[in-house]
Amino acid sequence: MTKNVLVCGAGGFIGSHLVQRLKNEGAWVRGVDLKYPEYSRTVADEFVIGDLRDQEIVHKLYDRRFDEVYQLAADMGGAGYIFTGEHDADVMHNSASINLNVLHCGHKSGNLGKIFYSSSACIYPEYNQLDPQNPKCSEDSAYPAAPDSEYGWEKLFSERLYLSYARNYGIPVRIARFHNIFGPEGTWKGGKEKAPAALCRKVAETTDGGEIEIWGDGEQTRSFLYIDECINGVRKLMDSNFQGPVNIGSEEMVTINQLAQMIAKIAEKMVTLKHIEGPLGVRGRNSDNRLIRQELNWAPDAPLTDGLAKTYLWVKSQVEELK
Ligand code: NAD
Repeated sequence: MTKNVLVCGAGGFIGSHLVQRLKNEGAWVRGVDLKYPEYSRTVADEFVIGDLRDQEIVHKLYDRRFDEVYQLAADMGGAGYIFTGEHDADVMHNSASINLNVLHCGHKSGNLGKIFYSSSACIYPEYNQLDPQNPKCSEDSAYPAAPDSEYGWEKLFSERLYLSYARNYGIPVRIARFHNIFGPEGTWKGGKEKAPAALCRKVAETTDGGEIEIWGDGEQTRSFLYIDECINGVRKLMDSNFQGPVNIGSEEMVTINQLAQMIAKIAEKMVTLKHIEGPLGVRGRNSDNRLIRQELNWAPDAPLTDGLAKTYLWVKSQVEELK
């Protein structure tokens, strides 16, 4: 029996990679998004251009039984988008509306099998992420809640929304908290890009011996997970009986300065880092993978530098195409 799957946010970075994986696995896939994937041809069997804030549109999507629904659509971006405060109202309204519609219409239709929700490391309290060398992001540390952005608050609300539908209506849900996913075919310019893609672009654009700008002192820490590893984790979670929320991330924590120098090394360029003012987010963050190792026996296979090398090559090709 062919598996029927609905991917919401199929035109985005993670969504378009997920559609590719599901097709490779032999599923029938309907994708939906405001836009087609920017960098790859969609391979979904059907691709609906539609606004998931519109309940009528979402209602129509459930015209058949979906064994699996992946809800990845959100109004989001990197630090330059979610930490300035300028987009807070849109982020909260748009993403909450999408989640309410996708879950409610699915439940009402009776055609919703199992649903995956992509939450974020941004739900973790700021007070546990002040020491860059010792951040705490275990799943049970989410409360008392104190995310540092409205983006994080919306994710926390939506986690609770999905858990409520599981509790009250018996909808099988799976929730992952992603930690900085990166890779080829992600946003790399325009203001919504995240640190790995932004730094790959800056390094690609500079000459050997040149200078690149880093927001803040660059001593803030993060971990980054390569897209293929992320999709492996999502598929494993979806196939399991474990509801989550669970971290899907890497435990290889680096400072932003180290990340920049790793990319420079891959590019075989000497670069100087110039520290400037910019939106930063929390001081330190790292995935804590104890729960996912225990429940799903999952962990990333490859070191950060492997994924960075593939991402740098792709961003460099994009930069050169624009010249
Ligand atoms: P993305 O921005 O590339 O993809 C999100 C997609 O949602 C976009 O294609 C966008 O057009 C679509 N979308 C937004 N509003 C919509 C609407 N009203 N109707 C239909 N489609 C709409 O982001 P991504 O990196 O692929 O992230 C996917 C999910 O994972 C998001 O929910 C994000 O919050 C979550 N997440 C991502 C990361 C990461 O590092 N990439 C980290 C934590 C959580």
